[in-house]
Amino acid sequence: MNDAPVLNLKGVVKRYGAVTALDGVDLEIGPGQFVGLLGPNGAGKSTLFQVIAGLFAPDAGDVQLFGTTHRANGPAIRRRLGVVFQERSVDLDMSIRANLRFHGRLFGIGGAALDARIDALAVQFGAASLLARPVRNLSGGQQRKVEIARALINEPDLLIMDEPSAGLDTPSRRALVADMRALSQSQGRAILWATHLVDEVDEADAVVMLRQGQVVAAGTPAELIRQAGAEDLTDAYSRLTGSADQ
Ligand code: ADP
Repeated sequence: MNDAPVLNLKGVVKRYGAVTALDGVDLEIGPGQFVGLLGPNGAGKSTLFQVIAGLFAPDAGDVQLFGTTHRANGPAIRRRLGVVFQERSVDLDMSIRANLRFHGRLFGIGGAALDARIDALAVQFGAASLLARPVRNLSGGQQRKVEIARALINEPDLLIMDEPSAGLDTPSRRALVADMRALSQSQGRAILWATHLVDEVDEADAVVMLRQGQVVAAGTPAELIRQAGAEDLTDAYSRLTGSADQ
């Protein structure tokens, strides 16, 4: 089995004028790992996602996905990467199926193979009866699931999710985390899950704590709790980053 990292960042720096949004970030994710990127607003999470997605290059440092770089092999990386951004990107007036078809075709998937994938995703997300509905008529939680299903259409080896639970109530949030952890385990897809809510990542394989563009701690939840001399991950997070949850 190939255990080479699906994501490997070394010394990543990104500045917006005088603001240093990422200040030497190192981060490694192995195949099938569920990794939480935990940090308060302004920590640099969204900027990091944009760098990983290849939307812009960092000012310094090395960004490798699947052992290669966007510059050398952008299309090959995009075929193996799924991205869920904070902003909604599905079309509200199109049905779920039409949205997923449109996105699948961008990856060169079509015909019966694409419809089979869409049907499988709909079953997985408990939305088989909703496929013909315009996204506009779905609840907030269902709309998030369409975003995520869309990001899975190319069966990515790495899925990056920027605050995917934003706007969901607590039960929907918990259910989404559990679903995605189960998916990561059953299908061997690595997931990088960005959040400012500790309870979403307290069972992650690893947690990376980001503050003011720097990784202040990284490890398994148990290691971070031990390192901080804390009672639980919430306590470790506030000790290590000086941030309160919420
Ligand atoms: P997070 O996603 O953790 O909230 P961001 O990556 O959005 O963090 O922001 C990191 C820092 O970079 C913040 O100080 C933010 O104000 C700044 N920043 C983000 N995007 C821009 C931009 N387009 N122009 C200028 N500053 C930005």
